[in-house]
Amino acid sequence: MTSSSSRIPVAILGATGVVGQRLLALLADHPVFEAAELIASDKSAGRSYADAVDWRLPGEIPRDIRDRIVRPLDTAAIESPVVLSALSASLAQDAEEELARRGKAVVSNASAHRMDADVPLLIPEINAEHVAALAAQRRRREGPGFIVTNPNCSTVAVAFALAPIHRAFGVRRATIVTMQALSGAGIPGVPSLAIADNVIPHIEGEADKIETEPRRILGRWSDDRFEDAPMILGAQVHRVPVSDGHLAAISLETDRACTPEDAAQVLREFRGEPQELQLHSAPERPIHVLSGARPQPALDRSRENGMAVSVGSIARCPVLGLRLEALVHNTIRGAAGAALLNAEWLHARGLLDAAVGHRAGGSR
Ligand code: NAP
Repeated sequence: MTSSSSRIPVAILGATGVVGQRLLALLADHPVFEAAELIASDKSAGRSYADAVDWRLPGEIPRDIRDRIVRPLDTAAIESPVVLSALSASLAQDAEEELARRGKAVVSNASAHRMDADVPLLIPEINAEHVAALAAQRRRREGPGFIVTNPNCSTVAVAFALAPIHRAFGVRRATIVTMQALSGAGIPGVPSLAIADNVIPHIEGEADKIETEPRRILGRWSDDRFEDAPMILGAQVHRVPVSDGHLAAISLETDRACTPEDAAQVLREFRGEPQELQLHSAPERPIHVLSGARPQPALDRSRENGMAVSVGSIARCPVLGLRLEALVHNTIRGAAGAALLNAEWLHARGLLDAAVGHRAGGSR
């Protein structure tokens, strides 16, 4: 492990992928965390990062990691107390649990543990109180390690759009139609001949996540268990030829009357703990309410460095009552930025201390 500063060393799992690259770009000059260990597949292991990666972001590979040697996934060899995971779900299933058992604070993008009975599916602006579930995890493993997950990228847009309206007016049911960017498919992604001049009305496993994850996020942790919000969600998903930015068209019905103006007001006023704590990656305004024919991926995905969700086209819906469009930068607020903000928030709340102390005292 290469670490010379007082920043907390972090291991990046899946460091060469779409999300891993974003994580490394966001970690360059980060005030709290330092990318110390870079983990990828056997194809990349043993090579320098610059040699192994197909760097897909504008700008150069951060200088301090260019020559770092990529390592294979060996959970016993990971030294960093904090692990940011951008592995596929199938790899994450066992690797993340094993790392938590070894005392690591695992902050994951993968879907493997999102719906576990004691794992927070965290958006700290919305459901910070779900972190109480960490006590249950630590009891189960009898150690300081834990797993915290961030949601599916489209779920982030849906959860931000629904949360303020749900709090004020109660969301009873909603239909969601997504238009999802190419970067959401990872590297190498969708073949160009399949997506050029086309829209594909299917993304494996995606609709299911969008129908279940927001209910967990908008629900509560009570009596040592998660209680989902009692709303019904239906999703249809599409891959579209856009580089970055997932757009969700949402129609919803509320328990109490909610005009488009009411919705715009509660969305505009929405703030959470990351804003109060002024965390490094936190947007000043987590939701930008836009007027006119917005949001649009090309114009709005990079608001507040890609960390703000944009909501617009808010109008009456003749079927369900209200409709709107929500946009998230899928690899930033929808993935790498979400995980990093979760780690910053856990740090600010003192919830990484046990894992960091555990490492200082030797890991098991
Ligand atoms: P990706 O581009 O396909 O990257 C996968 C990463 O995993 C690469 O670094 C790859 O290394 C590594 N890997 C593959 N097999 C491995 C092995 N056996 N051992 C260790 N590392 C291995 O995928 P991605 O889009 O970054 O997605 C990563 C995770 O984040 C997934 O769970 C995905 O569902 C989730 N996610 C993605 C997005 C998004 O917008 N892309 C949004 C939210 C969540 P090599 O380069 O060596 O193959």
